[in-house]
Amino acid sequence: MTEVTCELCPRGCVIPPGAAGDCRIRVNLDGRLVATTYGRPSAIHIDPVEKKPLNHFRPRIPVFSIATAGCNLHCLNCQNWQLSQRGGEEMEVLLHMEPDEVVANAQKADCKAVAYTYSDPIVFYEYVYDTAERARAAGLSNIFVTAGYINERPLRELCGVLDASNTDLKAFDDGFYRRINSATLQPVLDALVTQREEGVWLEVTNLVIPTLNDDLAMIRRMAKWIIDNLGEETPLHFSQFTPMYRMRNLPPTPVTALENARAEALDAGLQYVYIGNVFGHPAANTYCPRDGTLLVKRSGFHVDEFHITPDGRCPVCREKIPGVWQ
Ligand SMILES: [Zn+2]
Repeated sequence: MTEVTCELCPRGCVIPPGAAGDCRIRVNLDGRLVATTYGRPSAIHIDPVEKKPLNHFRPRIPVFSIATAGCNLHCLNCQNWQLSQRGGEEMEVLLHMEPDEVVANAQKADCKAVAYTYSDPIVFYEYVYDTAERARAAGLSNIFVTAGYINERPLRELCGVLDASNTDLKAFDDGFYRRINSATLQPVLDALVTQREEGVWLEVTNLVIPTLNDDLAMIRRMAKWIIDNLGEETPLHFSQFTPMYRMRNLPPTPVTALENARAEALDAGLQYVYIGNVFGHPAANTYCPRDGTLLVKRSGFHVDEFHITPDGRCPVCREKIPGVWQ
């Protein structure tokens, strides 16, 4: 009986026979590395694409969203900890749904895409890959919602079947990643670049936590890095922290802190900067970066108005608005 090394994520867990990696669900079964949650989702929901959040990818489509137990991060403020910080056998809800069935159920529900989300889909990689292949063959899009803590080789391969990604950039600070997420920054930056290089439509989310990562100088460095490495047209979502899990000692992010972060990122040169999960905030809308025309008006996850032309431009100045609009 031999140990196996999991080469999926930067942890590189060396797993003794019968044991699991740090994510709890990738186990050494007789010298073979097996993801125990393959075909066994613990969460299934139909969400609007705006909830992923994706603001520049096939607006308004319903998305068949799945997750299994397990995660390769251990964020102190995890919103889905009952799912992510457990192994498959610890879940009360454990369905059986093979990749073909996911696609069939998505189509039955009139969804136009499948999203791999909630916990980090990196840990159920094989299930994502097989489902995404079949979903694409059936004409559905594939959406990856991730913290991006994955090695380059498996990610590059997966990008071949992905259409869009919302990737968290939790802070532009390695110390923050180590303290709050039990991860490191550089692999996440690499994963962002890889997805961009592979042509996956990419939006970035930064959860702003009071006192921990709301420093405007750091936010400016993050915005500059995004501009230099992903492009100024990359949408960035600042979202509001709510006290959760092991981080109940901090208050929700004040809206002004989100507004300050947004102003800093816009000033640094990013063109599409959003404030997420603050209902009715005007920064949930899309504006033309050239002339300020209101292009998409949103309330929550609902699109109230949509003015981008069929060829993806501002109706007033004809500026090309990046995204997948059909
Ligand atoms: Zn315009």
